[in-house]
Amino acid sequence: MSFDKNFERKMFKVTCADCGQETEVPFQPDGERPVYCRECYRKHKPQRRFNDR
Ligand SMILES: [Zn+2]
Repeated sequence: MSFDKNFERKMFKVTCADCGQETEVPFQPDGERPVYCRECYRKHKPQRRFNDR
């Protein structure tokens, strides 16, 4: 079998758009959307708005 390490998760170093701390994310930042560290991501992640109207 020739399973390269192609499939392993790559981590990208980014600066959190909220707290400004360096962090790594498992996806490639597209440069347009802000990237957050784990904690800020939890704060910023979209919530389901059941109560919005
Ligand atoms: Zn942060």
